[in-house]
Amino acid sequence: MQANRTKPGKASSGGTKARRAHDGRMGAAALTPRALLRELRRTLADRGVDADAVLHRRGQLEAVRARARGRAFPREAYVRAMILAWLSARRPWTRIGEELEALARVFRDYDPRKLRRADPGALAERVLTLRCGNRGIHLQLAALPENLRRLQALEREWGSLDAFVTSDEPEAIARAWSRPGGAEKLEQVGPSVAREMLRFVGVEAAKPASLVRRMIGPERLGLVEDAGPRAAAAAVERLAAAAKREVTEVDTLLWMYCAPDQADVCGSDPRCDACRLAKHCRVGAA
Ligand code: SF4
Repeated sequence: MQANRTKPGKASSGGTKARRAHDGRMGAAALTPRALLRELRRTLADRGVDADAVLHRRGQLEAVRARARGRAFPREAYVRAMILAWLSARRPWTRIGEELEALARVFRDYDPRKLRRADPGALAERVLTLRCGNRGIHLQLAALPENLRRLQALEREWGSLDAFVTSDEPEAIARAWSRPGGAEKLEQVGPSVAREMLRFVGVEAAKPASLVRRMIGPERLGLVEDAGPRAAAAAVERLAAAAKREVTEVDTLLWMYCAPDQADVCGSDPRCDACRLAKHCRVGAA
């Protein structure tokens, strides 16, 4: 399942038109992947974002590395992954990251045996009190008992949830969890939440947010000429492989670059004057 991390690297080919748009040598693809990530990290630091601290708090990169070392993830880790993926899908990460310990108490250390007896409505109210909720929180947590049963069924069938999530490519597992009517479908889980769940249990699954897709797409850095989810995910995988970094790290750094609650550099109203990639970007170099 770590195939993306070891995929033979090559510089992105998606920047060809971006280079043509300038003088034949410009565009982010003209930067080496490592230089691009270095400039990205330097800009994050300029903006006061401690990238390593954010990566550590999210825990996904450490989970990827732990899985690569052979660590097994217990069922509690999967329940935690589902709940954090639900919460962070509809609310900026900062607040959730601040309340990880309190959330663990609310969700009884994500122990499915204890959670089965919990009242979903009361859990939702406690999440709202922590200001980590969203408009869909009651629906999400109403699905919790059924999803606990489905995860348990998967565990019985495969011997462990780790065996299930490593039985196929991450995209296929995300589809299995999110496909309506599928035998392994989890309620209130779509493709994006499913991929985020996988990342919380250390399975690499490129999931560039729409903000990131715009940043690396043809209008800006030109790392990819099609900013659709699949092409953008492939571009992030290529960039990570070429820089010899984990996909999760690269994807998260790009997200930090764009997210309004993080560095907020490359958002709807980009701060190109603060961006160390500007001379390699169609907007910044214009
Ligand atoms: S130069 Fe502007 S548009 Fe281009 S990547 Fe930087 S912030 Fe985004």
